[in-house]
Amino acid sequence: MPINIEFTRLRYRRTKIVATVGPACSDPGTIGRLIEAGVNVFRLNMSHGNHASHTEVFQTIRQENESRGTHVAILADLCGPKIRCGTFENGAIELTAGQSVIVTTEDVIGRDGLIPSAYDKLHLDANQGARILFDDGKLELSVESITGRELQCRVVQGGTLKDRKGINIPLCKVSAPALTEKDYADARMMLALGVDFLALSFTRKAADIELLKKVVDEFDHPAAIIAKLENHEGLQNADEIIATSDGIMVARGDMGVELNPEEVPVAQTQLVVAARKQRKPVIVATQMLESMIDNTQPTRAEVSDISHAVQSGTDAIMLSGETAAGNYPVEAVEMMDRIARHNESYQWQTEASGHFKSTEATPPIPLHHAIANALSTLSHDLQVYCIFVMSRGGTSALTVSSARPSAPVIAASAFPRTCRKMNLNWGTVPIETDTDAIEANPRLAAKLALTSFGAQQGDRVLLLEGFNANPSLHAPAITVLIV
Ligand code: PEP
Repeated sequence: MPINIEFTRLRYRRTKIVATVGPACSDPGTIGRLIEAGVNVFRLNMSHGNHASHTEVFQTIRQENESRGTHVAILADLCGPKIRCGTFENGAIELTAGQSVIVTTEDVIGRDGLIPSAYDKLHLDANQGARILFDDGKLELSVESITGRELQCRVVQGGTLKDRKGINIPLCKVSAPALTEKDYADARMMLALGVDFLALSFTRKAADIELLKKVVDEFDHPAAIIAKLENHEGLQNADEIIATSDGIMVARGDMGVELNPEEVPVAQTQLVVAARKQRKPVIVATQMLESMIDNTQPTRAEVSDISHAVQSGTDAIMLSGETAAGNYPVEAVEMMDRIARHNESYQWQTEASGHFKSTEATPPIPLHHAIANALSTLSHDLQVYCIFVMSRGGTSALTVSSARPSAPVIAASAFPRTCRKMNLNWGTVPIETDTDAIEANPRLAAKLALTSFGAQQGDRVLLLEGFNANPSLHAPAITVLIV
């Protein structure tokens, strides 16, 4: 059988792109070019920068959105209980394999053979035999004994250990609170600006998300909460975390330190399946185009990695250092866009002419879900051009997207905030418009499809309306329109 690699390109990319902002791309010109290259959500990483710099970037993004009429969302990534070492007399020490060293939770300056932990409960959380990893796992110690606040360790993997590098203690429960004082301050600052998403690093259980929800509730606009899953405890509690949050991120950077490398792809696959089962958005993150920090072309393995994520039906794929600190931020987004589109076109054409795999559940299922499944089936069987969903808060559009229909979901809302939030969802094209007018006259949807979305006369369009903030008033209606 000849191998066909040519497929009709879909007009709308289904998998969304999240790009991290940093010094390489934070000027208005580059933010604008990134939006035009296809970024759907910008991530501001609270591990770097300060409130003034985040405010400036936030406003730049909003201005660049405004001038283009786009709804690119902003996600603030909170540091969470990331633990770090302290500082050293000369900014760094050398560790040699086999060397004996002490890690202490006393508030001291480090020197040769003495590593201070900025986290003051390390001696309580780590146990004899535990591995202590520094700097994303580049250096490794093994704990031989613990006396008081001192951990007597042996160097397994040596190297240079610099000030404030991250610490991981795989398989040990870190008892640090889910939100630090800095997280509270960062969350409140970003919420005051009107951020769309807050992501919580190292989410370990549903209660961590509940804590952040309380902070969100202090403000009169609801930011969505994304749980970052990156350690054993988080994976263990994944189902309850997914149920409590508004979406998850497969944070493969720290996950690759907490788990063995070969375990990460399997965890990723299971998390994408678990999130899709609960119809929550999922982002696959980290090192997707790492080599493009320095090169204009990705490695073949990176292209395959993105392809695998896209084919698994993830809602979004994320760039970190590639856009934040790389030499080719715009090229990296363009490359990610091309890879996603090619895979989606292949899927669309090979999976029964455009029926992306949906989630499965045993009936009876919630009304929203059943309607979404029906729309997915109709969009496939009638080969419709697009599906219009009237959405006030974004729930209807999210549910329709979660059934992975073959046609793009044109998610209409009168609220810019809802449009931005929906921009993370697979296959969803947000549009800010008067939904009351469309509900009063459904033909307007067919007209919009023709004038704004490239439909042609004779194309079929579906319209979903009638969901209410009050579930007892739900009266969902699906209309089939001909353009
Ligand atoms: C990760 O660890 O993969 C991640 C996305 O988090 P951060 O970039 O904050 O380390």
